[in-house]
Amino acid sequence: MKLTFLGTAGLVPGLGLKVTGKRGMLSMVIDDDYLLEVGDGALRNINAHGVDLNAVKRVLVSHLHSDHFIGLVQVLFDMMNVRNRTEPLEIIGPKGIAKATRGLMSLCELPVADDEKRGYELIFKELGVSEVFDDIKTVRGDHPSEAHAYRIKRDNRVLFYNGESIFTDEVLDLARGADLLLCTVVVLEPHSFHISPEDLGKAATKAGVKRVAAVHWPTEYEDNRDEFGQLIRKHFDGEVIVPDDFTTIEV
Ligand SMILES: [Zn+2]
Ligand SMILES: [Zn+2]
Repeated sequence: MKLTFLGTAGLVPGLGLKVTGKRGMLSMVIDDDYLLEVGDGALRNINAHGVDLNAVKRVLVSHLHSDHFIGLVQVLFDMMNVRNRTEPLEIIGPKGIAKATRGLMSLCELPVADDEKRGYELIFKELGVSEVFDDIKTVRGDHPSEAHAYRIKRDNRVLFYNGESIFTDEVLDLARGADLLLCTVVVLEPHSFHISPEDLGKAATKAGVKRVAAVHWPTEYEDNRDEFGQLIRKHFDGEVIVPDDFTTIEV
């Protein structure tokens, strides 16, 4: 299973943030068929990397905060307008993702909002507390916006993605033994509902995962990723990856 980092930034561009100039907003692709997160403007890096959007069968979204989700509308429009997609697309995420997606398409007055004009079907799957289907297991975590974690197993390799929930017992249980723990990091110091690098290191050790990849991290470390990785390594002995945009790893 391969994981390509298309955009690795998170949050919003604010004072002192260098993220958006340098790195695209959060979006990744698993093999060629699962698009994982679609932060604002994700289409820029999706196209810059030459991702075949017609090969994407599913879009997996952790939660509806804009840095994870709002880029979806442009992706859907590109699939219609540029790719002439005809195959159905599944969109998987928290409760409300169907209404939010349809609402955004129509508020932006894009023809992709029209089921007839679009030319391909949208199939929404809104996740419950925990789900098992195909090669995916999910669990609902704890975040101000309903957030879900995904465990994906292919060819006996396991990728676990935690998109911003704190590490509840349920999230840790689902992460157990994963070959790669992919996780957003939001703050530097422990916080009531955001993950710090040291929290991630501790969770990785608790869950017994083999490797860690951190995305969506504070921009203070833009030019100093090694030091950022060290904060995770304080509590975790395995390999820690702090990837840049347009890099691919084998899980
Ligand atoms: Zn975020
Ligand atoms: Zn969030």
